[in-house]
Amino acid sequence: MASVTFEHLSKTYPNGFVSVDDVNLTIEDGEFVVFHGPSGCGKSTILRMIGGLEDITSGRIYLGNDLLNDILPRDRRLAMAFQNYTLYRHMNVYDNMALGLRLRDLPRTVIDSRVKSAAGFFGITDILTKKIRTISDAERQRVALGRAVVCQPKVLLVDEDFARQDDDRRREMLDDIIRINRDLKITVLYVTNNYDEAVSLNARVIFMKDGRITGDKKFGSAGSPE
Ligand code: ADP
Repeated sequence: MASVTFEHLSKTYPNGFVSVDDVNLTIEDGEFVVFHGPSGCGKSTILRMIGGLEDITSGRIYLGNDLLNDILPRDRRLAMAFQNYTLYRHMNVYDNMALGLRLRDLPRTVIDSRVKSAAGFFGITDILTKKIRTISDAERQRVALGRAVVCQPKVLLVDEDFARQDDDRRREMLDDIIRINRDLKITVLYVTNNYDEAVSLNARVIFMKDGRITGDKKFGSAGSPE
């Protein structure tokens, strides 16, 4: 787990558009934080800057005590669940989940135990030998989450596009993410423009508009402020 801190975080795109405007925020170790606001208010830009998919124009992002600005994206202890997650369709579920660990040259036994434990956690043990192209969308999404957690990230970033699907499946995915936060103790940052969803997650909700934070409230299980 790790805290995430933004200090005077701003993003101006090359065309001059200010998408994130002097954001200051501390997210505590192990928190579940939802960024909510209308489309275009800068939520995803914040996530992409944390993940290193977008340069930081000015300001600082810390992960624990580490200044992320200075750390290469691949060395950040983060996992991202975005819409365009790439699972390799010709490879089986096990190999997709093991890939990131193999790239880090971890011992086979460690890889095996992490993949199997994540598969158990997401209920996908029985499809480990199946090729990605033969499994359902719901299963693919669990594999993508499994692949994210085997690397033991300190923070999981989830973009709303990852959840763009029918309501039942979306709720299942959110339940999976709630379990990742609660049971694996991974700090979660989740972006959504759906108000009812934002306040139903028993989480701290950061409200945004025009690149700025306009509210910061912890909601209880009934969707009411605590
Ligand atoms: P949200 O996630 O809240 O919907 P985004 O962070 O994706 O919003 O985008 C914030 C604003 O920045 C939007 O108005 C969007 O059009 C603009 N934007 C995003 N990417 C670029 C880009 N590459 N160049 C210029 N403007 C961009």
